[in-house]
Amino acid sequence: MSLIVAKFGGTSVASPERIQMVAKKLIAKKQAGHQVVAVVSAMGKTTDELVGLAASLNDNPPAREMDRLLSTGEQVSMTLLAMAIEARGYKAMSFTGRQAGIETDGTHAKAKIMMVHNERIMEAIERGIIAVVAGFQGIDANGDITTLGRGGSDTTAVALAAFLHADLCRIYTDVDGVYDRDPRLHPDAVKYGRISYDDMLLLARGGARVLHDRCVELARREHVVLEVCSAFSDAPGTIVG
Ligand code: ADP
Ligand code: ASP
Ligand code: MG
Repeated sequence: MSLIVAKFGGTSVASPERIQMVAKKLIAKKQAGHQVVAVVSAMGKTTDELVGLAASLNDNPPAREMDRLLSTGEQVSMTLLAMAIEARGYKAMSFTGRQAGIETDGTHAKAKIMMVHNERIMEAIERGIIAVVAGFQGIDANGDITTLGRGGSDTTAVALAAFLHADLCRIYTDVDGVYDRDPRLHPDAVKYGRISYDDMLLLARGGARVLHDRCVELARREHVVLEVCSAFSDAPGTIVG
């Protein structure tokens, strides 16, 4: 039996139909005998819409309130995914960052994960439950909600993989792997079968948002091997590490 962490980005959970597709993928892993932890982003453009809403009321919204607001996006997708899994006859439970034990420093909008208290998630998966965790959020020492920076759900997935000692961390996204350039802008971009942490970090810091830069730093430090692959096909992706 392996413990798998599978992260799904905003496009992959953008509609009820896509959430169904994600539920099916997770259930297939469960049926194959694995323990499964899913990490989700907010549906589609939800986070951008929340940023816009805040801006319509305050040109410079307080960072604490902003993080509280933005964290709600992932809380919608996580509960809907858990419901979709349950509707198919499998057990699932959703967890906010706080419930998943994700402790961060207090830097709002760019918080750093310090520790994951993994007991609750471990207990759930040991009972055969598919754990669905809200990406992008944690809790600081004051008990306030923090967010990890745009694109930060990737980092949630790697932190969980490290602190749960997962066998595999798979990042499902809307392209089928890591390319030398953005494949949406450059049709002749070349896909990597495998890429080192250092080269991936260069790409991420250079603005390739396919992986959050902090996620790559954490993966390198904790020796978490990642696979970046498409949420919409079974094509082999890119191994990072
Ligand atoms: P998700 O919502 O799944 O986290 P993102 O939009 O954050 O997805 O990241 C995936 C996007 O990253 C792709 O749609 C692609 O346009 C973009 N991208 C930029 N640079 C690269 C690259 N070098 N390789 C792959 N994708 C890239
Ligand atoms: N929902 C957040 C964002 O849009 C986090 C993520 O998608 O990784 O940046
Ligand atoms: Mg992303």
